[in-house]
Formats: sequence, structure tokens, C-alpha cells
Amino acid sequence: MKYQELVDVYSALEATTKRLEKTDIIADYLKKLDAETIGKVGLLLRGGVFPAWSSEEIGIGAKLVERAVAEAVGTTQANVEDAVRDEGDIGLACIKLYAKKSQTTFFSQPLTINFVFNSLQKLSKISGSRSTNRKISIILELLSQASATEAKYLTRTITEELRIGVGDGIVRDAIAQAFDIDNKVVERAQMLTNDFSVVATTALLEGASGLARLNLTPGTPVKPMLAQLSPPIAEIIPEIGTAICETKYDGIRLQVHRNGSEIKIFTRRLENITNALPEIVELFDENLPHEDYIVEGEVIATRDGKPLPFQNILHRVRRKYNVEEAMENVPLKLYLFDLLYYKEPMIDEPLMIRRKTLEEIVDTSDDAMNLSTMIVGTPDNIDEIEELFNSSIAAHHEGIMIKNASEPYIPGIRGKKMLKYKAEPETLDMIVVGGTYGIGKRGDFVGSYLVALRDDNDEFKTVAYAATGLDDATLEYLTGKMKELEISTKGREIVVEPKIVLEIAFSEIVESPEYETGYSIRFPVVKNIRKDKGPGDVDTVERLLSMYDAQ
Ligand code: AMP
Repeated sequence: MKYQELVDVYSALEATTKRLEKTDIIADYLKKLDAETIGKVGLLLRGGVFPAWSSEEIGIGAKLVERAVAEAVGTTQANVEDAVRDEGDIGLACIKLYAKKSQTTFFSQPLTINFVFNSLQKLSKISGSRSTNRKISIILELLSQASATEAKYLTRTITEELRIGVGDGIVRDAIAQAFDIDNKVVERAQMLTNDFSVVATTALLEGASGLARLNLTPGTPVKPMLAQLSPPIAEIIPEIGTAICETKYDGIRLQVHRNGSEIKIFTRRLENITNALPEIVELFDENLPHEDYIVEGEVIATRDGKPLPFQNILHRVRRKYNVEEAMENVPLKLYLFDLLYYKEPMIDEPLMIRRKTLEEIVDTSDDAMNLSTMIVGTPDNIDEIEELFNSSIAAHHEGIMIKNASEPYIPGIRGKKMLKYKAEPETLDMIVVGGTYGIGKRGDFVGSYLVALRDDNDEFKTVAYAATGLDDATLEYLTGKMKELEISTKGREIVVEPKIVLEIAFSEIVESPEYETGYSIRFPVVKNIRKDKGPGDVDTVERLLSMYDAQ
């Protein structure tokens, strides 16, 4: 199967903003593919070559791609940088540069989807000495055989910015339409496997019944169920009926998998952090049965029994070296709160049953291994729930979680099944897409950060400039990162690849035509750099709008 055919599909997708048209285009294309190719296309349509559950990434910076493009078209890197600045993106720059390309490759084979896919996967595996040259040569091999439009989408795929306006939802609908399968069946299969390659291939080969058989597998992480902001306790509890109310710990969410004798630990971004937390692996090995399971909990760092700020635990999780030393300096405490799998999938069970089973299987005699503090809340004991909130705050935790006791676990959704009730002002996680350098003495630093939220198509739409809340060391750190991620700079304005996630507090949401969302926030303050979160975790425009409606 030729890569050019996929590229023509990309072009058609980019040319329309209509969701149904995009779905039709993809569905028609999927029907033409064979079993060897369809899985790869499933991933390539979402702009990558690894399933969503994998923490592998192509991992090539914009500068390296620019260097390869320069070699492929026979020009200087400075010319490529100019073209990127003029056109606003590496893909469009390729169209311009390929039109003037001086060298032509004779006898070149057309690129195939399999070759492109395998080459891109190879890129992520190259490390060590001379790795830059080896990466360049792989990219160059692709670019020198590519047509202008192929180069456009190749470079965008490598830099992980495909820009065809296709999110998970459209790919899901297209698979359903192509093989005449109920949307809900495809949605569930995707939710449980997090892998469009598996879902598309199974849909082609085995249809609805094959998809229905797919399920959670211990060892492969699933997107966690997310929390939504809670209305006042007295209002929400009568609506829910029976709720499980728990202390909300301010740490990092862990998903711990046991498969056979192997224990793996993942973050909420599905990153495998097993190696950074050997004592957690041991805790699980010693205090839970040796059965297959998937457990979720929050891990916090403590000193003298008191929780330490969130940054401390982040340092532990990020650690690659001197893990032993860090273990002594930053002791960890676990609070488990959910069970997704125990000998078999549990997610369809009501929370009450999942929690009961969890309580039965966890031995909490070790000080570090705990279940989250919880009470069953009903309209008859609102005062007890309020007490739990007060005591949680007094113990330096964030607040409480209010969860519907009869609901199943639905991976990846943010909804009413799980609510958070916090004392702090509300914050949103936003992504940095650009910034402004300071003036005078501050001219070397990016002082103000243009932040954005995610829309339905997984595209980022700007909301505000955030400039407060950053000390000098943080400004220096962020400026360094911005330079690494730089796409272009004009005067004092820098445009960057969307990678840095900031947690931003604010006082109010207001309408504002100046920003792409049509809204902005007043008094934005940067609370944290969320190194544990990535572009996929950024809050949505929809969430901003529902907060606007609520205020
Ligand atoms: P937020 O990140 O503000 O949306 O709040 C939701 C997060 O709170 C979850 O993803 C967990 O990391 C964390 N959390 C802390 N304690 C609990 C708990 N008892 N139950 C569920 N989530 C918790």
C-alpha cells in the first residue's frame, strides 16, 4: 500500500472541518486496506506509530527534522528555518522547499505505508553515540524518496503535529462505519485496549464479535477515569444517593499492574515508572495476593508523617539514577482507592463491590500501604461527609472525592461518577503554545506564556497569557525548554511545539475575542509545571465553557 494514498487522505481531511465528512473519508479508505496495513493506518491517522498506552514516542526535535529537510532538498538549514517561519509550520515549509528542490532521485521506489511506519518506529529506538547521525539518515532516506505532499505529512508526523483535525472520536466512528459495527462496541474496545492498531485490525478480521472479546490486560495500562469539580456537598449527595467519599491526596496517581510474577507501575499518562519506585513494587508484592490485578491509588511523599508538596513526589518518580538515596530521603505512602482487575476484569462492577474486594485483598499492616480513608455518604449523614472534608484539610490533604457507589469504572472519561471537592481555587491544566520575551534586563527570558486548551479535535486553542507565579529559577528553566521546543521566533514572540503543561489558577472566566477559544481568564497565576502531564491531559475548551456557565 502506497504512502501517497494515505497522504491524499490526510490532505482531504485537512481540507474539511466537518466531522461527518472526515468520518466518511476515513471509513472509505479503511475499507480498501488489508490486515497488514490497517493497524498501522489506525495509528498513523492519530499522528503516531505507537498505541496510546505506550510511552514510546518518535522523540525527534524540530531542529533535527529541519536539518534532514535541508539535506534532502539541497539547501541550508537557515533556509529551512526561514521557510518554517514564513509558512508557520514544517509541513508547509516542505511544500515550498520541495518545489525548488535541486536534486531529484532517480529510480526511487514509491514509499509504502509499511516502510514509513517501520522507519518511524525505528527512530524511537536509536540511542547512544552517533545517534543523531543515525536518526538523520533514517529521516533522510524517507525524505529523499518523498513527494512534496509526502514530505509535508512525514515531517509533521515526525514532529508529532499532524494537524489534520482528527481526534480519537472520528477514528472510532470511521472504524464503526467502515465495518458496519455499532459505535458503542468500537468505543468500548478502544477504551479497554487504548490501541487503534488492535481495534482496526480486529474490526477488519473479526467484526463486532471480535471487538467485544477485547478486554483489559494486566500489564497494558488504561487511561484512568477522571474527576470533575463537585457542586456543594449538600446539593450533590441527594442526587447521587449513596456515595463513597474519600480523602483526596495531593500526590501522583498510580496504576499498578501484576501479570504473572511481573509488577509494573504506570502514571496517569500511562508512563511506565516501575524502575523509579522499587519500594512500591515490593510493597505490592508483599501485601497483595500473587494474582493478576490492576489497582489504582495515589502515592504521596511524607516527612515526619506529614505530606510533602507535590513537587517532591514528582522528583521521586522522575528519578533514573540514585534511586536508593532518593528512597531514604523521600519516603512514600500509598493510598489505594480502586480495583480494575482481579483475576478477571472488574470495571463493570459497581464501585462499592470493587472497593470491598480491594479491602479484602490488601494487607495494610505496613505503614506505607493504605486504603484511602473513606466513608459511605448518604443524604442522612451530610455532616459526617463535611467532617471528613474538614479533617482531610486539617491533615494537609487537598479535599475529598465524592464517587457514585453504584457506577462502573469507565476508562478515560471525565464525568459525574467521580467528583472532587477542594478548598483551593479552581485550576485548569493548559499547554504552552508560545510566549513573549521580556524587555530590558529581562530580555533573555520568556516572561509571559501563551497557554491553550484542547478542543474536540485535539487541537489547541489559546486562552490567555500567563506571567505571574514564576520565580527566577523557574523562568530560566521554562525559557530553556521553550528554546528546545522553538518552532519560530519573530521579534519578542516565540512559537513552540505544544509540550509544556502548566497548572493555572484564575479568578474568573470572561468572553474575549482576542483568543482562539473566544474566552479568557482573569488574573492567571502559574501554580505548577505539570511534568507528569502531557498534551493529551490538557483540559478541554468544553470544560472551560462548562465552568463559565457554572460561574
Ligand atoms: P484532579 O487531578 O484535580 O482532576 O483530581 C483528580 C485526581 O485526584 C485523581 O486523578 C487522583 O490522582 C487524585 N486523587 C487523590 N486522592 C484520590 C482518591 N481518594 N480517589 C481518587 N483520586 C484521588
